[in-house]
Amino acid sequence: MANSLSVKPNSSATLPAGEVKSVSEADWKFRQTAGQFARSGYSIAGPLSVEQLSRCTEDGTGVEGASGGVAALVASSRDRSGFTVSVAATLELTCQSCAERFAMPVDSQSTIFVARDAAELAGWEDEVFESIEATEKTSALELVEDELLLAVPYVPRCETCEALLSSGKPRVHEFN
Ligand SMILES: [Zn+2]
Repeated sequence: MANSLSVKPNSSATLPAGEVKSVSEADWKFRQTAGQFARSGYSIAGPLSVEQLSRCTEDGTGVEGASGGVAALVASSRDRSGFTVSVAATLELTCQSCAERFAMPVDSQSTIFVARDAAELAGWEDEVFESIEATEKTSALELVEDELLLAVPYVPRCETCEALLSSGKPRVHEFN
């Protein structure tokens, strides 16, 4: 069913505030260090096509109308450098109870702190926030894809099955 997916603008998509210029495929894929993403003033945001998000469409997951962004944290508001990753999209998933396709809206944002070196990163190990070493290379596309993949439930269930399950009467589907 993956080839029946369409790309369309998602009007509910939220993007980081500020100046947003058009982002090319090369901009999304350009690999740079986490330290560069955390550099004050860094910002990339815009719509993403289904083709660009190929890592998210494995295992029968569909993506419609996705947009995303990466923006450096404002230095004065934190004592650590880092960046935020945001994604807004509609995922098309297969319900694990009734095997029907259903749409799940995703609107998610994470903050990732950047450690200067391995020693600083090790010192953060007990903390609850997400962190990465400054020299680690990644792309804005990979960061947005990771954020989107995190939103995919381990066991996807449609609203109907979720409601039935919580009421104690799961809908049984016979597989032939
Ligand atoms: Zn279902």
